[in-house]
Parts: sequence; C-alpha cells; structure tokens
Amino acid sequence: MKITSVAPIVLSIPFEAGGSGEGIMPTKWETLDFCLVRIDTDSGLTGWGEAFGYFCSRSVAALIERSLAPLLVGRDVPDPRKFSEEAQRKLVLQGRYGLTIFALSGIDLALWDLRAKAEGVALAELLGGRSRHSVPAYASLVRYGDRDLVRAKSEQAASEGYKEIKLHEITIPEIRICREAIGPDTRMTVDVNCNWSLEFTREVIPELKDLDTRWLEEPIFPPEDFRTLAELRKTGMAIATGENACTAFQFEEMCRLGATDFLQPSITKVGGVSEFLKITNRNREEWKLPMMPHSPYFGPGYFTTLQMAAIEPSFEQFEYLYIEPEAWLYREMPLPENGMISIPAGDGLGMEPDLDRIERFAV
Ligand SMILES: [Mg+2]
Repeated sequence: MKITSVAPIVLSIPFEAGGSGEGIMPTKWETLDFCLVRIDTDSGLTGWGEAFGYFCSRSVAALIERSLAPLLVGRDVPDPRKFSEEAQRKLVLQGRYGLTIFALSGIDLALWDLRAKAEGVALAELLGGRSRHSVPAYASLVRYGDRDLVRAKSEQAASEGYKEIKLHEITIPEIRICREAIGPDTRMTVDVNCNWSLEFTREVIPELKDLDTRWLEEPIFPPEDFRTLAELRKTGMAIATGENACTAFQFEEMCRLGATDFLQPSITKVGGVSEFLKITNRNREEWKLPMMPHSPYFGPGYFTTLQMAAIEPSFEQFEYLYIEPEAWLYREMPLPENGMISIPAGDGLGMEPDLDRIERFAV
C-alpha cells in the first residue's frame, strides 16, 4: 500500500461557549482551529489525522506540506512507530517540540488509521483489543471570568450528569463559586494554564485544598519546570500536567523528577499514537499513575483518544471541552451522556469525517 498524497486541511469551526472568549488563548477564542491530515493510498484507503492547531493551524499545515509529506509520498509505511522515529531524527534541526511534533502527531494519527483500516479493524483491536465500550468524561469548562456565568455553567454541567468539572478560572472567588454551585458530591479540578506565580500558588493552595480541589493543573510557568512542580506536590496538593509535553522523553523526565500525580498527554501534540503508547507502556512498568489525557478536540484527535481509552485501563477520564461548535465534522458524534461517552467500533479510528462538512469549514 503506497502513499499517493499527503494533504493538510486547515479547518475553522465557530463555536459558542457562553462567555467572552477571552483569557485562555492569545486573542479572542471563538473558532476551533485545527489541521486535518488526509493521507491517500494506491489501495483506495484514506487515513485521517488531526494536528493541534489552536492559533497555529497554518504553521502546522506548512510543516506537514514542506517537511513531512515529502518523506511519505511514494512509500509504503507499514509501521507508524518506525516512521515517527525516522521523522523525529530528520526534523531535529526544526526544534524537537511544539509545532514540529504537532505536525508529526497529525501524520501519525492518519498512519495508524490507515494501518487499522488495512487490517479491517478498529485501532483498539489492532492494538490488542478493547477492554471497554465507553469511558467517563469530565466537563472541561472554558474561562468565563464572570461569577454569574461560572455559577450557571457549573450548575448546568453537574445537572447533565458529569461527576467531575474542570475550571479554567484563575481567580479564587470564581473557583469558590463553582464549589458552591456543584455541592460536595461533584469533583472539581482547577487548570490555570501556567498563569500563577510560585508565590501566589503557594499562598492559595490551602484554600484550594479546603475547596476539595482534586487536582491543580499547570499552575506555574514554564510548564516544563518539573522540579518546581515536584516541590509543589510536597504541599499535599495533587498536581496534573502533560498537555504541553512532547514525546515520551519529556514524560520520562517529568516522572523521574516526580512532577505530577496525573499524566495528561495530548494525542495531537505529544507525537500521536506512537508516543502515547510509549507513555502508557512506561506507565504500566513503572510510574503507575492515573491518566487524564488532554483532549479538547472534535476531529480525529477526539476519536483516537477514545480508542486509547478503549485499550488502556489507567485512562481514567476523557476531557470533554464544554462548548457548542456550529457543526460536527461527523454525521454522528458520540457525545457524553450522563457523563459517559460511547467508543465507536468502526474501522480505523472508529468514525469517518464528512467530506461536505470538511469543505464547508476548510479555510
Ligand atoms: Mg489544561
């Protein structure tokens, strides 16, 4: 099966989150930007992948076009893991992490989709077989920065059956309001996307503990300051990190230094399935931590993450970004119901994106 073409497709889907859209991203966040990857082959099979693209989808597409597609076209690539290593070595001068690995992640997902389709099975089956058909999801709320909205959205998510809610608020009164709104029986976590100083983090940890915060995610900048995260864990506050780590190599460093209580690899950023599997293998051997992968996606990244949930017992919960896109890329979208998502069993990643919708949202 030879690859005949590799095409990045930049997509932009407007969404509604109920807030001002300000805070988490460099400028106002109102569209889901991502880079789809389409790989066609002479067998007639097509593989689909997704590279992380929030505010960087065109740059990632350019890397795919200029640096990765020429490595693939005309070749048979039966082992995505081998290709990942080859590409990482060839692209070493472009920077090991960030955009380079986002681009490779998109390619890797498409190669695994193809490989499973060639065998006529779902990716989970190809990788040893699924151990479950659905996975718990938590509601990952955006940053509202508005007390009434935090209260309303927290209440809404809890009433829909989510057992856990993640906030992206960075001010304590808003965090307190969420706990009031959801009561003591729904779990609450707090993700501040590296916005706090070390001093401030130390100052507020006692209150976060009083509010029964299950974990504090990425409190400080830079996110790869694993030594400081390890120090913060000594306060007894559980720390979660990993969405900004690329490749299993950075997870190795993170775990060697004892920087986290929860592993959060992001399938469209970390290096795709190939690097994700290295992390789960090392976790089984040695780290033995619960996995809470980063997955605020709605394309092939969503479905690949679900395939990982199907095979990996330490995968505790799926991160469901609590927004309303204008449309889904798929004719049927398995959404959380009562806090659970069904894992599709179709060939490859489990679902095929709808070509008309791709055309409609392509930039
Ligand atoms: Mg996060």
